[in-house]
Amino acid sequence: MADFTALFGAPSARPPPRPSAPPPEAAPPSKKRKRQKGKKPAAEPSAAAAPAPAKKSAGDAARAQLAGARFRHINELLYTQGSADSVALFEREPGFFDAYHEGFRLQAARWPVNPVHLVTRWLRAQPETWVVGDLGCGDAELARSVPHRVHSFDLVANNERVTACDIARLPLADRSLDVAVFCLALMGSNYVDFLREARRVLKPRALLKIAEVSSRFANLPAWLAMLDGLGFELLDRDGSNSHFLLFTFRKRAAAPPPSPVAAVPLKPCIYKRR
Ligand code: SAH
Repeated sequence: MADFTALFGAPSARPPPRPSAPPPEAAPPSKKRKRQKGKKPAAEPSAAAAPAPAKKSAGDAARAQLAGARFRHINELLYTQGSADSVALFEREPGFFDAYHEGFRLQAARWPVNPVHLVTRWLRAQPETWVVGDLGCGDAELARSVPHRVHSFDLVANNERVTACDIARLPLADRSLDVAVFCLALMGSNYVDFLREARRVLKPRALLKIAEVSSRFANLPAWLAMLDGLGFELLDRDGSNSHFLLFTFRKRAAAPPPSPVAAVPLKPCIYKRR
């Protein structure tokens, strides 16, 4: 599985390194880091750029370590299991959702750019009359940041803007959206169901906006061919930042051929355990 430590950062609380070991800020170079040598340093989220951590008590450190471990565990489940199991997980353990999002926010704060801000900027330039679906919305930051009418969906509703549902089965009528957004939300082994569902709720020739971690795409041409087979025409692909890819697709008016489309898996973003 891919090592996304360079992107998502290492857990904040770790045992102090042995004297001979490199400090946490200089984690042993992974393959990813090596490949990025020579690239613009500003693009890499670095501990050096982060404010110096306040001194923690042993209790604080243990709590942070536990929270980090729990976050990584939930994250791994969300990426590797089917969405019905994720629904069941949060029903069983409602507190896991906040634990996940707290960890997610901490990680996002370290990124050179947060893709939800890129999607926000893009959407602000689109007609305000558009009806938007934010599928896998987290805490609905997008809805708070644009003038459009936004339907925000996530597995758990952690504020009043969010409707709880599995985005494999949206509580929306056919052909009701002008744009469907998946911002880091293609999680789950059945994520292709989310795309099919997006196609159902999009109006003919409406747009599909996807932002994802670049390194999830083990085979980008095959993935794009799959999207084409699902009835989405690629309009734009933005790879201008080092960590995320943004795509704009248009729903073809004609239904895709009935032949089944083989799912192209995306790599899960698994955090390295240390
Ligand atoms: N789009 C937000 C949140 C990204 S985190 C942002 O960019 O800030 C990914 C979100 O997708 C999580 O909140 C997760 O709960 C949600 N998600 C994953 N699978 C889902 C599913 N099957 N149904 C609804 N939400 C899902």
